[in-house]
Amino acid sequence: MSSNLPPGVTVGHPHLNPPDTSHEHEWEADSTDYPIIEDGAAIFIEHCRHETVLNSERGYRGERVVTDSIPCEETRSYRFEYDYLEDPEGNRINLPPIHDWSDVSAETEDKVLTVERSTWESNDENPDVYVDPDQDTGEVVIEHNGFTLRYAPQQED
Ligand SMILES: [Zn+2]
Repeated sequence: MSSNLPPGVTVGHPHLNPPDTSHEHEWEADSTDYPIIEDGAAIFIEHCRHETVLNSERGYRGERVVTDSIPCEETRSYRFEYDYLEDPEGNRINLPPIHDWSDVSAETEDKVLTVERSTWESNDENPDVYVDPDQDTGEVVIEHNGFTLRYAPQQED
């Protein structure tokens, strides 16, 4: 059978004997200090930092030096939903999650979008953004032009 293999490929070749890349994902945040603001949410991306080692050698102090590895490419994300919008006078409007947005007035929606837009448009009025990425108790607060927009983990009822 080995005569059917392409030149240079032996039965021990990794393509024929794929390495065991199974592992428990080791999640690590891409950026905990600035989530992605889109789709009516503050979204945190995490990637797996695990690498399957194919080859390693001893360094001159006896340490293990990885010379060939396959990085895991899995990512996952979690999101904070809208919580409230507060205007410059301190009036607070509680906001539903984006999938339940039908009762929100066009005026409120416009203000929310203005605050959100300030996070990706660069101009003289950059927003202040406060981030606590904790998945249970965290929050993302954006302050722009006197308005405060808060996102928080969605509470299970
Ligand atoms: Zn992984």
